[in-house]
Amino acid sequence: VTVLRPELLLDASGVRRGCAVELAGGAIRAVGPSETVELAGIALAPGFVNAHSHAFQRALRGRVERRETQADDFWSWRQQMYAAAARLDPETIHEDARSCYRQLRRAGYTSVGEFHYVHHRPDGTSYDDANALAQAVCEAAEAEGLRICLLLTAYERAAVPAQRRFCDPDVETYLARAEALRAWAADRPLVTVGVAPHSVRAVSREWLVQIGRYARVTGLPLHVHAGEQQQEVAECQAEHGLRPIELLAATEVLGERTTVVHATHADARERDLLAASGTTVCLCPTTEGNLGDGWPPTEQLVAAGVALAIGSDSNVRLDPLEELREVETCARRVAQRRNVLAQATLLAAAWDGGAHALGLPRPRLEAGAPADLIAIDLAHHALHGVADEDLAAALIFAGDASAVVRTWVGGA
Ligand SMILES: [Zn+2]
Repeated sequence: VTVLRPELLLDASGVRRGCAVELAGGAIRAVGPSETVELAGIALAPGFVNAHSHAFQRALRGRVERRETQADDFWSWRQQMYAAAARLDPETIHEDARSCYRQLRRAGYTSVGEFHYVHHRPDGTSYDDANALAQAVCEAAEAEGLRICLLLTAYERAAVPAQRRFCDPDVETYLARAEALRAWAADRPLVTVGVAPHSVRAVSREWLVQIGRYARVTGLPLHVHAGEQQQEVAECQAEHGLRPIELLAATEVLGERTTVVHATHADARERDLLAASGTTVCLCPTTEGNLGDGWPPTEQLVAAGVALAIGSDSNVRLDPLEELREVETCARRVAQRRNVLAQATLLAAAWDGGAHALGLPRPRLEAGAPADLIAIDLAHHALHGVADEDLAAALIFAGDASAVVRTWVGGA
């Protein structure tokens, strides 16, 4: 049993003073009054949830920021991402993921949803163990003490040779790999599994239907990229006569356990479909800004009743506070007003929304919650002299990940 006696507690219920938090067996056993402070100048908070990551893409940072003469957009960036994916094998993907996850944990993320799509050898043939790369990524998270939901990505169509190693020959083979990965992960306390049709570009209608059905039967989280790019919307309309999120509704992919990543170009009808189905939207603002995706309709999503999560996506920036600040400041620029989202809505994206998206328990400082915690330095220049009731806002609007000075995952 470990007892932590910080100066402050901060969670979705607000700020508390004079409390002790008792940890046992990887969970919070009790939160009660304390006469003494042992962690002076420290606020304890639940760790943040990173609901969307591609760990290997961190290798691209810097390299893709040169202005080229040809069209430089998401699609040209993707060519460089494919080159980075081409050199991965079980050892290099493990090392890349370890390095990324070490930094994610330092930044205050205690869980990650890894949207993992590099599965096979570069020519598309399977490794001896068909889940070798997915397992190498999970083992990287275990080695760094980060909770991981491995979102095993389904990819059907290789439009270019670089995509061959993402693809399975048929949806049954993909679902068998998901089953095998769940069995492999069953006795690993930090690892869970979800399913993830990559996008409406990468899979057909039939794959969407079957993967959606599998997720409903098993209760697994389902994640899918949708509405990131205008070209994707136009291609989907040309192929199916539907916008991407309309197609996800028509194939029964939307739902309580489903997360749509981006939804940058979701129109009013698509936003209503997301809200009516209880689907979460994961915003990845530092990546969406980097890729020139557009302005997400954040205010309209929240007004429609859609829960948000956040993700570090391409992992150029590893800072949950920056993601939250960007969610709000992007919404302010669009609305030309201040305080568009309530603070509680912002924090909920990094806590409840992210945890729900990954099928994890609600992050709280209360008995029974997982002991996934962060220590915040109240002497940090962004927080020094800030009133208790303004702590969360100062963290988001003035702070950054350097205010996080320690993390616990499962109490360790
Ligand atoms: Zn992504």
